[in-house]
Amino acid sequence: MKRARVAIDGAIHEAVEVEGKLKLEDGRIFTEDHVTWLPPVEPGTVFVLGLNYADHAKELSFNAPKEPLVFLKGPNTFLGHNGSSVRPEEATNMHYECELAVVIGKQAKNVKKEDAYDYVAGYTVANDYAIRDYLENYYRPNLKVKNRDTLTPIGPWLVDKEDIKDPMNLKLKTSVNGKVTQQGHTSDMVFSIPYLIEYLSSFMTLNPNDIILTGTPEGLEKVNAGDEVITEIEGIGQLRNYIISDKELVT
Ligand code: MG
Repeated sequence: MKRARVAIDGAIHEAVEVEGKLKLEDGRIFTEDHVTWLPPVEPGTVFVLGLNYADHAKELSFNAPKEPLVFLKGPNTFLGHNGSSVRPEEATNMHYECELAVVIGKQAKNVKKEDAYDYVAGYTVANDYAIRDYLENYYRPNLKVKNRDTLTPIGPWLVDKEDIKDPMNLKLKTSVNGKVTQQGHTSDMVFSIPYLIEYLSSFMTLNPNDIILTGTPEGLEKVNAGDEVITEIEGIGQLRNYIISDKELVT
């Protein structure tokens, strides 16, 4: 089953996918263009992996880490499918990052790798935009790079775990204005999903709707206001996002 959260006339609804459309809990059916998409779950604690694909680490002139390199995101940064992300006009290095997002389904503490998938609700797609102009180094807080308002689109669907045979065997792809710019494969992650759940739950409790963004493969390109960016993962969905300049915002 594919699940979504959408807003219609100011009210928030849960929906499921039926033949490519959204079916609300009250039975009404909408096409995807007639709703405002929200993140498919209300994010709890969101863990974000840095440099979790060796080819991407190399692209940024780093070695792949020996232990997971993880930071957190706050709720302000998330945005639904078809939303507009705000790009600082002054920036020169804004990059997309297509990532498999793992949504936790039940409380997890001291979970072993072999049991890790029991704690997963499902999967969605995230675009972990970075404004690398503001990066100092990977060992300093990176709020201005990674936690800006609207710069983490996520969705459209939460796909139930049962519907994804092997999340470590999926193709990832990003297109900018219809041109494919990034391609990768989740089998190339440095630290796998079971490893990450064991690692994180060994020192903190994971809760339902916590999310792990598992990193991005190589293929970064700069993006600009006016661009349409689609991040896509095989079997999970296509997440569309538009970029606008902060100069276009009415304040
Ligand atoms: Mg990332």
